[in-house]
Amino acid sequence: MTILDKKLEGTGTVLILGHVRPDGDCVGSCLGLLNYLENAYPQTKATVCLEAPAGKFGYMKGFDQIQTIFPQDTSYDLCICLDCSDKERLGAGAAAFQLAKDTLCIDHHITNRNYCAENVVEPNASSTCEVLFGLMDEAKITKETAACLYTGIVHDTGVFRYSCTSSKTMNIAGKLMDKGIDFSSIIDDSFFRKTYVQNQILGRALLESITFLHGKCIFSVVRLKDMDFYGVTSKDLDGIVEQLRVTEGIHCALFLYEVEPQIFKVSMRSNTALDVAKIAGYFGGGGHVKAAGCTMSGSIYDVVNNLSGHIEKQILELEAKEEEKEG
Ligand code: 5GP
Ligand code: MN
Repeated sequence: MTILDKKLEGTGTVLILGHVRPDGDCVGSCLGLLNYLENAYPQTKATVCLEAPAGKFGYMKGFDQIQTIFPQDTSYDLCICLDCSDKERLGAGAAAFQLAKDTLCIDHHITNRNYCAENVVEPNASSTCEVLFGLMDEAKITKETAACLYTGIVHDTGVFRYSCTSSKTMNIAGKLMDKGIDFSSIIDDSFFRKTYVQNQILGRALLESITFLHGKCIFSVVRLKDMDFYGVTSKDLDGIVEQLRVTEGIHCALFLYEVEPQIFKVSMRSNTALDVAKIAGYFGGGGHVKAAGCTMSGSIYDVVNNLSGHIEKQILELEAKEEEKEG
């Protein structure tokens, strides 16, 4: 019996929450759990509440049932928070979270603050979907549930490329494939496919990218006026930081987009031992060692300059360690 079974036994209403600006792992884990409960715990009445996810995730069963208006004064028997490292990241879901009779967090962020009554946090897991799979009864995972969990794993591993991918991740992905999912469509349609304007804004961001710290770092920014010009929203900016990261010789990639005048959402990626979760944490954000984010205010120059100081400090420390080893 897993902690999920223990929490669900005899439970009536379940509220499933994720993090603000939900990504593939967030949507996949929330809908994966919704579909699982329908099959394994039919006595529960589950609701998924999220900020409106990108339409490309529409193939997952239950996508149309996602509520984007958050309950304010309903007291659920159990609130399950997925892929969300702290209460603030629940966004408008925080009100219902506070009123819930019991709470459970399932996550894989090293920066998780253990804010629920029970917290299952596995920082070495590729994704929340991988953690969730471990808490489920494999026999009760339907093809629909499998498609959701596979989506989360694909997105958080960059299609099994990032260092968070383990042989366990691959084994789980294999078991999900055995449920009969259309894995190549999932990967193509939700991860690689881009609209014309998404390609245009990606191209523009690459064209305007700038390297710094002797070519070890790269950054690019998309301003509100650029998003207006191309007719895109923040949901259309997926993958830009990844393309910056794979630039030859780069230790650390930064991508900024403006959410309000002079307020920037920052995405950071590391190719080395450089710990971007630590830097994001310093600025009130969080994430993983090699992929993290935060929100910062000021001019673009101020934001990059502030981040650059922390990156340079870590690069110097890492280089000193290397020299010590060699010396
Ligand atoms: P991304 O750059 O793709 O938005 O996020 C990379 C990772 O950092 C994800 O795991 C995401 O959940 C986490 N992350 C991004 N922004 C924030 C933030 O503002 N706060 C926290 N706690 N985590 C973040
Ligand atoms: Mn995740």
